[in-house]
Amino acid sequence: MSTGFIWRERFGWHDLGSGAGPLRAGGWIEPGEPHAEHAATKRRIYSLLEESGLLARLTRIEPRPAGEHELTLFHTPRHIARARELSAGAGGSLGLDAWVPPGSYEIAALAAGAAIVAVDAVLDGTVDNCYALVRPPGHHAEADEGKGFCIFNNVVLAALHARRNRGIERVAIVDWDVHHGNGAQAAFYEDPSVLTISLHQDGVFPPGSGTVAETGAGTGTGANVNLPLPPGSGAGAYAEAFDRVVVPALERFQPQLLLVACGFDANGFDPMSRQLLHSRAFAEMTERMLTVAAASADGRLVMTHEGGYHTGTVPFCALAVIERLAGERTEVVDPFLVPLEGMAGQELQPHQRDAIERAVELFD
Ligand SMILES: [Zn+2]
Repeated sequence: MSTGFIWRERFGWHDLGSGAGPLRAGGWIEPGEPHAEHAATKRRIYSLLEESGLLARLTRIEPRPAGEHELTLFHTPRHIARARELSAGAGGSLGLDAWVPPGSYEIAALAAGAAIVAVDAVLDGTVDNCYALVRPPGHHAEADEGKGFCIFNNVVLAALHARRNRGIERVAIVDWDVHHGNGAQAAFYEDPSVLTISLHQDGVFPPGSGTVAETGAGTGTGANVNLPLPPGSGAGAYAEAFDRVVVPALERFQPQLLLVACGFDANGFDPMSRQLLHSRAFAEMTERMLTVAAASADGRLVMTHEGGYHTGTVPFCALAVIERLAGERTEVVDPFLVPLEGMAGQELQPHQRDAIERAVELFD
């Protein structure tokens, strides 16, 4: 198995400054602490990959910035121009919790380009699968609006590139970031050629977005699957969700390319969610995706990095995922696994089963 990997130090230079959690400092928020979406979680993934020895066994793929003709596959010229203008000036807001600091247009374009290059590498057979460790994240960005730390929608642009430029007829996007994958939903809501599946904590972000009843429209009806999980969902709830909803939907759809919007903020220590996942659960979810990709897409699987805000746990979760992608094990032992697996509530709870059942009924 050959696994591609993309990271550039430049992704760490996107700087949201100081803040508290998801909010920037100012008003009553005292400055001095880093904003939640800071570079350390991603740099520490890279460090752990290097020190574990796994990095040396991956195929490095060089990203390039997405051109304007590529960004307009999804985004409006107005959105792109606003992002460029804010980035060239003193920075500014591109939407709800979407700040563009000076210089970040180029970094966001590089993140989008990395997702596109990852798709090309897999479709060209340069690698079997690929992990694009990109920043800023993308999955909340909509056509004409930034949102939730996202400027351009990396995974949506990757899917549209595959569809329009590479002749791939059916693309599936599985988004397991703990927040709703609203950008892909908006992009493909009436499009039966892209199956979008989002597992997220019910009712967190964006506000009011991602209910189970949002199933697509027109010819896209049934090709948008939302699985809003109650807070407190752990490995048992996610395994049930994959068994009952995610894998059956993918098996019905038979994607020719599988994309995963890979956030690690459903981790049990993440400050931005109330879920309980750990590195073993992320590894098992990856295994399921590899199996689906092998069965219908010649193994073609691309993951793009999204959220994940606990500097301690995120690197171990990412290592576990990339180990599975590469079919390799390192000697690293995740020190957070034992405390997280031991937490009460990891097994499927009745109210979680009910939430999953609602999705099963809609799509059966
Ligand atoms: Zn998230």
